[in-house]
Amino acid sequence: MAKSAKKTAKKTAKKASRRSTVASKTKEQITSALTELFIDELKDIYWAEKHLTKALPKMEKSATSEELKNAFVSHLKQTSVHVTRIEKVFKLLGQKVQAKKCDAMAGLVEEALGIIEDTEKGTATRDVGLIMAAQKVEHYEIATYGSLAQLAKTLELDDVKNILGTTLDEEKQTDELLTTIAEESVNYEATSEEA
Ligand code: FE
Ligand code: FE
Repeated sequence: MAKSAKKTAKKTAKKASRRSTVASKTKEQITSALTELFIDELKDIYWAEKHLTKALPKMEKSATSEELKNAFVSHLKQTSVHVTRIEKVFKLLGQKVQAKKCDAMAGLVEEALGIIEDTEKGTATRDVGLIMAAQKVEHYEIATYGSLAQLAKTLELDDVKNILGTTLDEEKQTDELLTTIAEESVNYEATSEEA
């Protein structure tokens, strides 16, 4: 047998044995491992949202554009609702409400605070940086809620899927609003600022 044919045969055998292992598990066993991962990820985004409720006021205070300030204020209100929604999901799943440090969100917030430190107060340039930082946060949330909502669907948790889907839509809207603020005013204003 040629080397490549041997390799293919080996791979096929491996795949088949993996498939039989999965088949020998009951659906419940598979679901419980997946549920565990799901709940772990919920703890992560719960920490992240709570962390954001502390960071958004700082970002609002540091922004100059009225539109951007308003966007941060209204997203802070939404974020508090996001926290409550996750608590509701924990309860629906019969789990205790628990947060687990999200290193990604800790880093993204640190980055936002770094931008405030590195830019001048009252400038459009700082606003550009704040929008970038905020959009990175929104994209992280979109990825998380998108995956979790899909997973809830797989686990046949329709109520949970709908709750997470509502938050997902709000994160997407916020991301779009930030893009509009950047494109329609802040980015252009910043082009005339000196270093
Ligand atoms: Fe959120
Ligand atoms: Fe958000």
